[in-house]
Amino acid sequence: MTAKVLRLNKAGTPIAWLTRQQAATLLVKEMVIWSLGDRVLEMRGGYNRHGERSVLRLPSILACEGKVHADHCQPPLENGFLFRRDQNLCMYCGNAFATASLSRDHVLPLSRGGQDVWTNVVTSCRRCNNRKADRTPEEAGMHLLAVPFAPNQYEFLYLSNHNVLADQMEFLKARFSRFMS
Ligand SMILES: [Zn+2]
Repeated sequence: MTAKVLRLNKAGTPIAWLTRQQAATLLVKEMVIWSLGDRVLEMRGGYNRHGERSVLRLPSILACEGKVHADHCQPPLENGFLFRRDQNLCMYCGNAFATASLSRDHVLPLSRGGQDVWTNVVTSCRRCNNRKADRTPEEAGMHLLAVPFAPNQYEFLYLSNHNVLADQMEFLKARFSRFMS
């Protein structure tokens, strides 16, 4: 999988993953204010008239001009992100499963007024989900292994990229909440 470039706003908050092409465009347009990270991605360009091939060096983390949004929108609640938050573990039996065998469990069931929000959903294997049925964990006598939490911006960017480079990981991990291991 191709590595991506982490884009920050000018306040230093990560906002998105860029493809190499998008990052190169920002560099060429001189929209990059500063960059971080020692890992450099190289992009080969065209040949000049001396027969030399140009090389564009991309930083793994860069900051651009643009609006600074103080309040970040809540990351979308999608099963892919949810399962990754819980490391593909069933939060009831603790076993690891392939994505296809996992489901979204509402800790307080929807039928009982529970909401479809990050803090009320956990990864569950189908067996545990069926066993729990329309009950709370207490009623079902099932123990929840971890408290469900809403990922912050740093955690969400980690969850949304399966190929985070070491220095990008170091940058993001510095602001992980205590919930995220
Ligand atoms: Zn289970």
